Amino acid sequence: MIFKKDAQETQRFLEDTSALRDGFTKGVYIPETYEEVIDLMHECAKSKSTITLSGNGTGTTGGRIPYGDYVLSSQAFNKILSIQKFSDGTGLATVQCGVLLKDLQETTEAEGLLYPPDPTERLCFIGATIANNSSGARTFKYGPTRDYVERITVVLSTGDLLDIKRGEIFADEHDEFQLKLPSGKTLHFKRPNYSIPQTRKHMAGYYTKPGMDLIDLFIGSEGTLGFILEADLKLIPKPKQFFGVLVYFPTPEDVIAFVDEARRRSVSETTPTALCARALEYFDKNSLNFLRQRYPNIPENAAGAVFLEQETTPETEDQLLSDWFELMEHHHAMTDDSWAALTPNEQQDLREFRHTLPVLVNEWLNTQETRKISTDMAVPIPRFHELMNLYNTECQAHDFPYILFGHIGDGHLHLNILPQSMEEFNEAKKLYDEFVKKSLDMGGTLSAEHGVGKLKAHYLAEMYGEEGINEMLRIKKTLDPDLMLNRGNLIPKAYLEKIH
Ligand SMILES: Cc1cc2nc3c(=O)[nH]c(=O)nc-3n(C[C@H](O)[C@H](O)[C@H](O)COP(=O)(O)OP(=O)(O)OC[C@H]3O[C@@H](n4cnc5c(N)ncnc54)[C@H](O)[C@@H]3O)c2cc1C
Repeated sequence: MIFKKDAQETQRFLEDTSALRDGFTKGVYIPETYEEVIDLMHECAKSKSTITLSGNGTGTTGGRIPYGDYVLSSQAFNKILSIQKFSDGTGLATVQCGVLLKDLQETTEAEGLLYPPDPTERLCFIGATIANNSSGARTFKYGPTRDYVERITVVLSTGDLLDIKRGEIFADEHDEFQLKLPSGKTLHFKRPNYSIPQTRKHMAGYYTKPGMDLIDLFIGSEGTLGFILEADLKLIPKPKQFFGVLVYFPTPEDVIAFVDEARRRSVSETTPTALCARALEYFDKNSLNFLRQRYPNIPENAAGAVFLEQETTPETEDQLLSDWFELMEHHHAMTDDSWAALTPNEQQDLREFRHTLPVLVNEWLNTQETRKISTDMAVPIPRFHELMNLYNTECQAHDFPYILFGHIGDGHLHLNILPQSMEEFNEAKKLYDEFVKKSLDMGGTLSAEHGVGKLKAHYLAEMYGEEGINEMLRIKKTLDPDLMLNRGNLIPKAYLEKIH
């Protein structure tokens, strides 16, 4: 097993894409076999050391940043073990945790298969996307990572190696799991009793529902219960073709009316010739102003834009394009300036356009003394306009520079406030707290996709109450008795210290 402890070599493991910069570690272990991972767990248990699990560092919430002891890197587990293709056109990929999402997508697509989860950042490791139940633009049609995970191999901090298959272990009528370990010991623990918000996306705290499958407890648990080593992932037939469109609108009201109708039609009509977006993404005027540095052709009078993708066949493409343009024109879209991407090269350019926004924002932030304040909340669709209006009116009232963009189909926008002084940062932070409270009051979630990590752990009690956090903690204590893994993620430190 490789061990790195020189500051130069460990530095990158102290960072992700959050602005947390005060992590520290005694060293980074890079195991190359599953046995080495098990040995490491035993060693750390013996020496009462903590372990922080690391993917590729694209997380936004400080999840992989260590505060002491050791880091366990996934990077050597980088093999796609097999891709199976079945006679009905579907498939199954067996992958190790350190495989890049980009590599999995390219390999499956070459086989005529599609792995639908598609976070905007593709340089992330599959194990981390499972630990974070990652989602992305295509989640609008296909759901988050959870829906595609059929099996995981997990190592607990006790060194127990588990193979958890979907459909095998469920919470019983008393909401209890019984989990037999390879050592012969049986663990008993209850699923959390809180309820999950009725948002289209949710990624805050352990998953729960009556009769739930054990695999769903591990998916989205942000590395607090075990190290995911390997997974079987469901693949669907790759759609024959698709097109993407970026369309500008002259007023904010037109954008919203268009999205409302596009969302309603996409989720309700299911025939192959009906409009059915697989992605519906939003850019507000301020986002377009930001992007104009790289894309000077963005029209000056655009008040907002929508990016959408529609799957087609050679037979349906013309009709679907014409139907979408009709709908856009009905909502006064600036169709002459819009950008339709029909070929793979054009689609790649459009994808690049979308990815450029967070990248430009991060580049700009690197030149500033302050951090951005970034929201990941979502509310149920009927309350979505209320939250969007709140973001706009409050940011304008405070005169904050900000951008609002993201997964509007799922009622999930990212608000980035970009403070230019510490004073503005502190003011924006207070407003963020207010937004969290209001989103939760509307029946929303603290995080729709990026997770809680270390940055947002202290808000989780607002969502589930003290008892909710204690329920999560009891599960963690059963599966990770020394509270060794990913301390500080999800469960606020104060709770861990009380029980330890
Ligand atoms: C520009 C940009 C756009 C993004 N867009 C999206 C988006 O659209 N949707 C979305 O969901 N996310 C998005 N993200 C966030 C990020 O890409 C995801 O959270 C991703 O899953 C992180 O993967 P990683 O390998 O970089 O993990 P890391 O940042 O290294 O780790 C993330 C977390 O996973 C844990 N972890 C890592 N590996 C394992 C393992 N094998 N077992 C258990 N726990 C593990 C870590 O401890 C940590 O808590 C975006 C990020 C960026 C920078």
